[in-house]
Amino acid sequence: KDGAGIFEKRSTCPYCGVGCGVVLRPDGSGGIDVRGDQVHPANFGRLCSKGSALAETVWLHDRLLSPRVNGDETDWDSALSLVAQKFSDTIAQHGPDSVAFYVSGQLLTEDYYVANKLMKGFIGSANIDTNSRLCMASSVAGHKRAFGTDTVPGTYEDLEEADLIVLVGSNMAWCHPVLYQRVLAAKKARPGLKVVVVDPRRTASCDAADLHLPLKPGTDVALFNGLLTALYEGGALDAAYLRNIAGFDEALHAAMADDPAATGLEASDIRKFYRMWMGKEKVVTVYSQGVNQSSSGSDKVNSILNCHLATGRIGKPGMGPLSVTGQPNAMGGREVGGLANMLACHLDIENADHRQAVRDFWDAPHMPTAAGLKAVDMFRAVGEGKIKALWIIHTNPAVSMPDVDAVRAAIKGCDFTVVSDITANTDTARLADVLLPASAWAEKDGTVTNSDRTISRQRSVLPAPGQARADWAILADVARRMGFEAAFDYESPAEIFREYAALSGVAGMLGKDFDISGWSDLDDHGYEALEPTRWPVTKTRQGGRFFADGRFFTPDGKGRMLAVRMREPVARTAPRFPFRLNTGRIRDQWHTMTRTAKSPRLSAHLAEPFLEVNPEDAQTLGIQPAALVRVTSPIGSCILRALITDAVRPGQVFAPIHWTGETAPSARIDVLVPSVVDPVSGQPESKAAVVAVAEF
Ligand code: SF4
Repeated sequence: KDGAGIFEKRSTCPYCGVGCGVVLRPDGSGGIDVRGDQVHPANFGRLCSKGSALAETVWLHDRLLSPRVNGDETDWDSALSLVAQKFSDTIAQHGPDSVAFYVSGQLLTEDYYVANKLMKGFIGSANIDTNSRLCMASSVAGHKRAFGTDTVPGTYEDLEEADLIVLVGSNMAWCHPVLYQRVLAAKKARPGLKVVVVDPRRTASCDAADLHLPLKPGTDVALFNGLLTALYEGGALDAAYLRNIAGFDEALHAAMADDPAATGLEASDIRKFYRMWMGKEKVVTVYSQGVNQSSSGSDKVNSILNCHLATGRIGKPGMGPLSVTGQPNAMGGREVGGLANMLACHLDIENADHRQAVRDFWDAPHMPTAAGLKAVDMFRAVGEGKIKALWIIHTNPAVSMPDVDAVRAAIKGCDFTVVSDITANTDTARLADVLLPASAWAEKDGTVTNSDRTISRQRSVLPAPGQARADWAILADVARRMGFEAAFDYESPAEIFREYAALSGVAGMLGKDFDISGWSDLDDHGYEALEPTRWPVTKTRQGGRFFADGRFFTPDGKGRMLAVRMREPVARTAPRFPFRLNTGRIRDQWHTMTRTAKSPRLSAHLAEPFLEVNPEDAQTLGIQPAALVRVTSPIGSCILRALITDAVRPGQVFAPIHWTGETAPSARIDVLVPSVVDPVSGQPESKAAVVAVAEF
């Protein structure tokens, strides 16, 4: 309670992976006041436009208030019994791989833990994947190949200690705004701090950049392979650190075979960037979806990691690679096993010892022996009738998946689809056989992990409306009805968190990085009072950085440099489809706008869907400013408002991702994007469709 006796709680913003702390105070009439948490280590009181408008998004007008079966309201008992029966029958008839869960980085870790345990330990399939596949999977793959684990080496503080910050495929100013505010503040305090932006598009993040490198889409590997070559030829490698690294010769050989001229950048700009990198010891490379959402995303990640490993610039104050996650709990989902190719606590599904350890810990009847279906393959299997029962939780794949009309048709044709969400008004919810009302942010309790490994609490200050319930409780209730009573007899998120922390101790003993076993005996009061804390959290260690000591989580303890070569995007431009379509977020909307569209001021920033077109291309095509244009790819078409700007280069166009069949049916961008994926990570190539543009 504050000095006036009014209660308030500290929680975490539900949007991006910066994971800002917020203080929530109920206003007494069903709403809340929201302000930045002055002592949260991610934001120290700062909030961006989305975080500042959170209070405007909690009103209840379109909330789903009761379970529905085939559109008719029903009670929980009937709905959950039906879900459990349908899943059990499908498994009995067609085997465990005939069912799947598609979950979300919006889930809290405790929800994720229960979903993962049910699918992998008790149903006996690994067919649980998350929308983080669309966001971060290439970083996970790159980390695992280089470090042996999916470990983020550094911290946000490194941004303040760096002398050079390189933003690659990251419009941090709009997509991780509070981190960008920290960069700006650091630059103001230390004008010697330089910022380079590597991005085909001139974004808001370029405003503070000392150098913008508008490389050709998909050529990042050539840029960083050129950097590795320049570091070698310039004598800038760290020979002592390299003794801890395997694969250097092969990586350098591959790097030398790539020509940085393939980026299309001015040679003088490339040389300037390489000189800046070599001239500053404290370098942080921040990368995001421009790197990850690519058919060569994992190789792009490893080309960046190679440069940091070769120079020992990793895990030390002010230096290292830093992948920034899109969602509030993308990291928590990775840690807890929300991806189809991971077990809980960074354990590996293909490793028999790891499987056995988890099986023993859970006393699980079944464990899959191989990875499950990743998102694109999962929906393909739904469309082919191989997945016959599907549970979609807090995500909207009927808008956000590539080749989205095929995904929409697949969900519609699935024998049995369950959707858990806070509203029935999404494109995906409209396709469900069973709709389950879930509690929303500010109504539920649990934990999330942000991009620098800080685990924070989300706390409830509002009652869930109608019959809405926490996701962990819904999942556990279904599990019990499927016959797994003892393993899912949870009464609170604190109980789940303690179990998860104890399992992480097993992972720690198996040599894994993710260990929060120091919290395994946390009591309910301790869970309620949990402060934002960077993992690991053991009896002897808390937080810090990884890899400065040259010890990695590979079998031989060495880090790995990967031999990678530049590969162009899979879709090739041609006379019929001469433009490369880049996609991304805008500053004031979030995903498919379920929440942010409720705020008038957020909707006022950029009120309608648009297509950025270069002035030269607009002139050639005869497109007037603000004209409607038809955008056509080999698989679909959209109608958007032309925004003529030299922020995009000739031959490239950009469109935001947020509009849906509910809000702007003709502007669903993923009808244009083919379901091409990175072969290592399974992440879709969301930024490199080829399209034609014509006035509508
Ligand atoms: Fe929320 Fe991200 Fe903005 Fe922070 S930067 S307030 S986490 S949207």
